[in-house]
Amino acid sequence: MTHLDNILHQVTKPARYTGGEWNSVVKDWDKTPIRIALSFPDLYEIGMSNMALPILYELLNSQPDVLAERVYAPWVDMEAVMRREGIPLFSLESKRPLKDFDIIGFSLGYELAYTNVLNMLDLAQIPVLASERNDSHPVVIAGGSCALNPEPMADFIDFFVIGDGEEVLPELLDSFRDWKREGKGAPKKELLHQVATIPGIYVPSLYQVKYQADGIFKSITPTVAQAKPTIQRRIVTKLPPPPTKPVVPYIEVVHDRGTIEIQRGCSRGCRFCQAGTIYRPVRERPQSEVVQAVGELIANCGYNEVSLVSLSTSDYPGIDELVASLSHRYHDQNLSLSLPSLRIDSFSVRLMEALPSRRKTGLTFAPEAGSERLRRSINKNTPEDKLLKTATAAFDRGWLSLKLYFMLGLPTETTDDVEGIIQLLDKVSSLGREVKGRRPQLRISLSTFVPKPHTPFQWVAQEKEEQLNSKHELLSRVLRRKGIRLSWPDPKVSLLEAALSRGDRRLSKVIYRAWKSGATFDAWGEHFNYENWLGAFEEAGLTPGFYAQRERPLDEPLPWTHIDVGVTAAFLKQEYQRAIDGIETPDCRDEGCNACGLEQRLTICREKHKKLG
Ligand code: SF4
Repeated sequence: MTHLDNILHQVTKPARYTGGEWNSVVKDWDKTPIRIALSFPDLYEIGMSNMALPILYELLNSQPDVLAERVYAPWVDMEAVMRREGIPLFSLESKRPLKDFDIIGFSLGYELAYTNVLNMLDLAQIPVLASERNDSHPVVIAGGSCALNPEPMADFIDFFVIGDGEEVLPELLDSFRDWKREGKGAPKKELLHQVATIPGIYVPSLYQVKYQADGIFKSITPTVAQAKPTIQRRIVTKLPPPPTKPVVPYIEVVHDRGTIEIQRGCSRGCRFCQAGTIYRPVRERPQSEVVQAVGELIANCGYNEVSLVSLSTSDYPGIDELVASLSHRYHDQNLSLSLPSLRIDSFSVRLMEALPSRRKTGLTFAPEAGSERLRRSINKNTPEDKLLKTATAAFDRGWLSLKLYFMLGLPTETTDDVEGIIQLLDKVSSLGREVKGRRPQLRISLSTFVPKPHTPFQWVAQEKEEQLNSKHELLSRVLRRKGIRLSWPDPKVSLLEAALSRGDRRLSKVIYRAWKSGATFDAWGEHFNYENWLGAFEEAGLTPGFYAQRERPLDEPLPWTHIDVGVTAAFLKQEYQRAIDGIETPDCRDEGCNACGLEQRLTICREKHKKLG
């Protein structure tokens, strides 16, 4: 057990490392045979705001023979102290070194956290390369949205969990129990062969990857009978009840409130959005369950702010009734509600107005593109008049501050589309003046388009830095003059994100070399070192542009084709063509099934598909 008394005074925010928070679960180590470290490769404050970890924490700790403890990436000051003092990375609950656990499970939500995974394993004094770990080391597993293209992390992870974890985890635990029962000394290889037979589990070491002479990915094939040629994403058709007794942090974290996932998935079909594909279909949690869960959350955690989370919250059927019912029922507790991810319409504005909030927060919408043409092409399905009506409704109801998200470098984007952002903002500003008699406060958050696997834009090249910079300069020059605040990420970060997200297995070497030369916390501007990464690509004989800025022919094999998310390549290709032709595809909740592929696998979709006749 690690003793912290002599080191905590040397680091910022020691509460990141003390554990002991309200609702944390500390089981008897010696009496619990299966020990799992749930690991988040970023700071405590970010990890404690993640929605998936409380689900896994509750699910695993509900099993009498399992204990699950948490670990987050130590900040650089803590890492320096730990390395100096030879302290191995430890869990928050029991303060046991990670190497004493049976399983270390990483949540991979964004590519720029990859080097932190390596750093955490190294800090735990565990070899980072799976091939260098022996049977005495913990099994290292990973899940989360990045696992949908697992190849760049293939050299470090023993196996990946693809899709929803709720059903597959108990199956995994059964395999693990059997393996342990067979007695200490059963080689890890046996476990890997066994879990490879579970749907949704991908064991990268059981596959062989081939490349063409020109370096392009050619194929990935199983090398043993237990490994399947394709891994189907696990999908729970009915969401189990949400966790209502999550750990309550002692220090301020990014999302300092309770959260209830009211629905999973989104079928609006924005063509750049990976979440819109990899979490399909939409599965709603019944209102009564949400109302009860909010009550339990308040009682168990003392929260007076609860966020009703979904990829598109205003699409939840009866969201207005749900808000009214929660406001009424928890009026005495002074409950405040927040609704992230609202669609652009007057209904959303009315909904925000109905929220019982002690403070009136600003309104946030994501038009993503400035022109109607480009919004049609990316399937954002928001005509300009609807956008302007929404802004008018917001000004009418007293908001004078709007935050708007736009993306630069979208496929088919021209300078006219970029200028469209300026024209749109001019119209919104004028409306604010008309309605309120003064200029509204507009804040613009720009992001760079990153082509993602399993989306209709997975074949598209990311724009080069010079093109992106000139578009950004145009915007910032004009908008600054108009007093509009604009934020914009470093295009080099977006380039790296695109390379890692569409990468193949050779990128493991790049990630390893980048980490060896000091890369960690790459998502943090002050730590991002592009030179490290360039050097790592060079040493591996690769370039980020090969992965990020190369348009891929539609018939080129893709490194993630063995991961079957359920949405077919034929549907993605059709959507890509419709993007080029500027044709929208309606939400399947509104106008019937679009046959994205899931109708072949799921009864809920098949029924909808049949109805269409
Ligand atoms: S199969 Fe049909 S109903 Fe199901 S998610 Fe796809 S488009 Fe929607």
